[in-house]
Amino acid sequence: MFAQVIVDIAHSQVDKIFEYSCPDSLQAGCRVKVPFGGRTVDGFVIGVSQTSAYPADKVKPVAQVLDEEPALIAECFTLMQSICKRYRVPKAVALRLFMPSEMRLGKVKEAFKRYAVYRNGEVKLSASAKKQAEALAYLKEQGECEFASLCTAYGRAAVNALAEKGALEIQTRKINRGDFRVLPSDGQKKILTPAQCAALESIENCGKTVSLIHGVTGSGKTEIYLSVIAREILRGRTAIFLVPEISLTPQMLSQLRARFGGAAAILHSGLSAGEKFDEWQRLRSGEAKIAIGARSAVFAPLENIGAIIIDEEHDSSYSSESAPRYSAIEIAQMRAEYNGAKLVLGSATPSVESYVKAAEGRFNLITLTERINKKPLPEIIIADMRREVKRGNNTSFSAALRGELEETLKSGNQAIIFLNRRGYSRTVLCRDCGYVAKCEHCDVTLTYHSEDNCLKCHYCGAKYRMLESCPECGGRHVLYNGTGTQRVVSELKTLFPSARIIRMDNDTVSGKDGHYKILKQFADKKADILVGTQMIAKGHDFPAVTLVGIMDADMSLHFSDYRSGERTFQLITQVAGRSGRAGEAGKVVLQTCSPENYILRYATAYDYKGFFDNENDLRRATGFPPYSLICRIMVTSENGDAALETLKNVYFAIEELRKRRPDEFIFLNKMHSPIKKIQNKMRYQVLMRLKSHSMLERLYDIAVTNSSPSVLVYVEENPVNLS
Ligand code: ADP
Ligand code: ZN
Repeated sequence: MFAQVIVDIAHSQVDKIFEYSCPDSLQAGCRVKVPFGGRTVDGFVIGVSQTSAYPADKVKPVAQVLDEEPALIAECFTLMQSICKRYRVPKAVALRLFMPSEMRLGKVKEAFKRYAVYRNGEVKLSASAKKQAEALAYLKEQGECEFASLCTAYGRAAVNALAEKGALEIQTRKINRGDFRVLPSDGQKKILTPAQCAALESIENCGKTVSLIHGVTGSGKTEIYLSVIAREILRGRTAIFLVPEISLTPQMLSQLRARFGGAAAILHSGLSAGEKFDEWQRLRSGEAKIAIGARSAVFAPLENIGAIIIDEEHDSSYSSESAPRYSAIEIAQMRAEYNGAKLVLGSATPSVESYVKAAEGRFNLITLTERINKKPLPEIIIADMRREVKRGNNTSFSAALRGELEETLKSGNQAIIFLNRRGYSRTVLCRDCGYVAKCEHCDVTLTYHSEDNCLKCHYCGAKYRMLESCPECGGRHVLYNGTGTQRVVSELKTLFPSARIIRMDNDTVSGKDGHYKILKQFADKKADILVGTQMIAKGHDFPAVTLVGIMDADMSLHFSDYRSGERTFQLITQVAGRSGRAGEAGKVVLQTCSPENYILRYATAYDYKGFFDNENDLRRATGFPPYSLICRIMVTSENGDAALETLKNVYFAIEELRKRRPDEFIFLNKMHSPIKKIQNKMRYQVLMRLKSHSMLERLYDIAVTNSSPSVLVYVEENPVNLS
């Protein structure tokens, strides 16, 4: 027999299929060790055959077989080809995605535990063997227990003596480390509303692979997802459920566990190697049938997938920002097509890109306009922070938010205070009039770069001098540094000394149960106010929350990204959706320095369609995605000269492309990246805006051919971060 092997080396020069002779029992999907260029390396067997295309003396034997059962499922090989073609990565890199890295590198194994099991039968114990008698009595009552704890309680000598006499048997069993704590969930299967039934029907019979559920927060999307999964499980198929953030997995897992018990397994990067290994094995063996997790769970080792759910599909976390730069939605679509499965995308605020696809009929669109029980969406009150400053209020809290907080605390309800810190402090905003510095050519917000004390446009590279004062009103409070969670908490403590306040951000969350602990505390009503960053924005369902305060609604509005309007709309809708989910009506106070902004107006009116039409027209008119492709080719190296040389070659090759297809290029230039150096690596870029995706493959070609061990060249499509 011969095995076709891909060696586990992430390099384009060895990105080929090699052949080795192998034992007859070897199956495709197993991992092996093979001789390769004078050493032994790991490899993936992607196929086996009776004959070889090479002469017998040219084919070396496999050195060692690492898996008894195939670690990779057959689908991996098909998907590998699609992934390699789409993202132009070596085959080994594509295959690595399908397996936890600790497992691939052999750093984690199954865990076993020893148990002492009581055995019936007459055993003679000497009268002096008191400990043995006690241990045996205990074990007789229990039937079995952990060997180690029995030794701790009665002494190892006694336990061993009992084992020798045959009074107990020591059994070694595989244990599951992925035994997770979950938040309480009612777990009740609900009677679906007519709208939910119609959605289920439509997903099943629309004749399209992808359905997009656009449903307001609290419209019962989760119940639809669970019903879709239940339907597929009944059919003997499996499912993947993606959530945008690890912090959301406990809540979802509890719902899945309540409905599907041990059939649900969790997969995400926050697990320990052992936990991940065990959960992965449960999925691979078929014991578990539902994988839940963040982005990487899209690679769950499940066969016969019937449904893939992507909740909060607009979330940027579904695109990987580090190599390999894949989109989980694209991968999900590939897997859905391979398996003939349904892909369900859901959001209260679908991405413009997905909604355009739905509007064009490529996705099946399902719209849910009402909350369950027709509960009203929370009222959004706008607090104009410019006016607060003028009135002499120098705290972070508007009078409106203070007043509402007081009411909420008095009535015994809970409040969430939301802050967004990401990227904001580098935006230049006038606190007196709300003016924001923008690029003259691109109409996107400029970003302050302290290293050369200037403002930069991330889309065209234009530089502007740092402002001393506001060009609109002459005010001098121009560099806004934002407020941190800590400061908000301390201000809250002064305002409401008796309120119980907890904080959730990157500083306070640690360990695998970090999210769980804080959320559980809040869910158990052991705190009145939860202060946090984007971690608390998404998905959580706390029935007693009747007030949400959004500290700086402008935050992402002025983030230097063409999607900043979209992001702001999404964020406000998401955060507002945390308020008034059960019983009492909720309220939202939105603090802003630009209350007249159209995005905020659509958001406060919950007018997604209005927002979308406006944004869509704007994108079309200004030539931003999805009506163009922003593409950045990064060139980085510790050797600045080599990087510059490569940059020139890359640029030259693209110039050649442009000569042939000038109409395709809206913008093309080469430059330093806004941040010139990271970790001693010089960073250069070719930035372009293209009319369509038609050049993309050739751009990847250019990146691959110019990349070398000393100079890294890679492509980013519509990058979230252009710094
Ligand atoms: P979404 O995911 O759209 O924000 P959820 O699925 O969380 O909404 O539903 C909002 C609330 O309504 C939840 O508390 C959920 O338990 C409840 N709910 C959902 N569907 C039903 C139903 N058919 N009957 C009763 N309550 C429901
Ligand atoms: Zn610009």
